[in-house]
Amino acid sequence: MGPPGAGKGTQSEILAEKFNIPHISTGDILRSAIANQTPLGKKAQSYVDQGDLVPDDLILDLIRDRLKQSDAQAGWILDGFPRTVDQASFLDDLLQDIHDNVPCAVNLEVPDQVLIHRLLARGRKDDNQDIITHRLQVYREKTAPVIEYYLQQGTLHSVNGDRTPDEVHQALQSIVETKLQVN
Ligand code: AMP
Repeated sequence: MGPPGAGKGTQSEILAEKFNIPHISTGDILRSAIANQTPLGKKAQSYVDQGDLVPDDLILDLIRDRLKQSDAQAGWILDGFPRTVDQASFLDDLLQDIHDNVPCAVNLEVPDQVLIHRLLARGRKDDNQDIITHRLQVYREKTAPVIEYYLQQGTLHSVNGDRTPDEVHQALQSIVETKLQVN
């Protein structure tokens, strides 16, 4: 987890490759559905363009189906999900059905001014000044409570994301390795 521009995509990609498990980004799945104008893409487009969260009924089906696929049986890295407390509690229920281990939640912390600078430099369609401000607001309102949720579950790790990608990666890798040893 982490606000837009925190480095979730970059870091998830590297970890997924290293541990040979799929990187599941709800944002990437939605953008590809929009590019292909699938039924999901058509329904999600206006939300993604405006920086609003896509309604849960669309996202939850997508996650349920994706985690059932054969490549996801040994583990996965979710990027951009869960983004609401309802989504987190759905994931808990789903994991009780299909997996037996508790997930490890990681929050990448980066100051707002660094995020804005990074997002403007990235220049995705939803990375203009107004939409960025809105996405940060949505993050604070809807997603920040998810951090509290995992804090209470005792599965949260907070990582300083305002460092070089390599430094952040080292921190994440040691969290995952510790977790694997404990299990
Ligand atoms: P991201 O690539 O994670 O920054 O996501 C881009 C956009 O996709 C977000 O601004 C939302 O519109 C949508 N999105 C991605 N993940 C979710 C999610 N878990 N719940 C609702 N909307 C999402």
